[in-house]
Amino acid sequence: MTDFSIGNEQDRWNHHPGEVQLNPLFNWPIRPAAVWRWYSGAWLALTALTVCFAVAILIYVWFLPPLEQMRTFEPGWVLRIWLINLIPQTVIAGGLHWWLYIRRGQGMRRKFDRRDLSHGNGMFTFNDQVLDNIWWTLGSAMTVATAYQCLIYWAMANGWAPVVTFGERPVWCVVWMAFIPMWSGLHFYWTHRLAHHPKLYKRVHAVHHRNVNIGPWSGISNHWFENLLYFSTYFIHLIVPSHPLHLLFHCYFQQLSPVFSHSGFERVMKGEAEVARAGDFFHQLHHRYFECNYGTSEIPFDKWFGTFHDGSEGDTTRTRARKTQMYT
Ligand SMILES: [Zn+2]
Ligand SMILES: [Zn+2]
Repeated sequence: MTDFSIGNEQDRWNHHPGEVQLNPLFNWPIRPAAVWRWYSGAWLALTALTVCFAVAILIYVWFLPPLEQMRTFEPGWVLRIWLINLIPQTVIAGGLHWWLYIRRGQGMRRKFDRRDLSHGNGMFTFNDQVLDNIWWTLGSAMTVATAYQCLIYWAMANGWAPVVTFGERPVWCVVWMAFIPMWSGLHFYWTHRLAHHPKLYKRVHAVHHRNVNIGPWSGISNHWFENLLYFSTYFIHLIVPSHPLHLLFHCYFQQLSPVFSHSGFERVMKGEAEVARAGDFFHQLHHRYFECNYGTSEIPFDKWFGTFHDGSEGDTTRTRARKTQMYT
């Protein structure tokens, strides 16, 4: 990367974290220390990734119905799957929203955007950004996610999807678990690019992009049709040998990590202490400038295809020009 200059971009944000970093695993020559820092920063600290993994373990041990019970569709276990989606989503998005936007526990510290979330705005369902986002998350996203999960568990229980155990293939199970976020990033890039096709954008993806300024509930505040695409990432488990815990981790990663990445704050703080990594400036730039950073920082598709915004003034100019070209 060359010529990084924040320039006027600095003034457009309350907090500008500097040049956006991408996964160094894809840099050549490879720098093992940088790769170690990247992955240890994600897996060995309180982050969206580790929270999702911890929730998956907890739910697997105490609440996930055994596969034998899921051989035939019954209201009892389907309801339970819905609740193990709905409750963690509400607790984590609601908790973060309360701390950052109601209690205002850390004020404006590490907040990217200067503006507050939008109230009394006719662009949103119920004229309110937060209520709009809650409706699309708990109504649309949780319904589609639950339906897909139930289908896959049902297929696993009947032997129609390949199931493995940690006892039989421990190495595979660990490797596949670590690879799930990368698969999710790959799938997200392509479905998200599709959602930015002008026709699909206008009717579907615009629901998510009502949120130019974002909060925890914006994470998976998506139109029904977008959710059908977004959660189709789970169907990999119909092909790739998986344990029920793989699917559960995949689900929480897909459902809960956007709560953190859309929180609007780079870090969650308590007093002077940084408690957890939260917001993702890479995606925050996507919400402000639209036609950049379609993927995630995990796999640098945007850099490869020329749509990467690194937070610099120059990239804002380039993105605005691309947007004008796309819509004229
Ligand atoms: Zn988008
Ligand atoms: Zn988003």
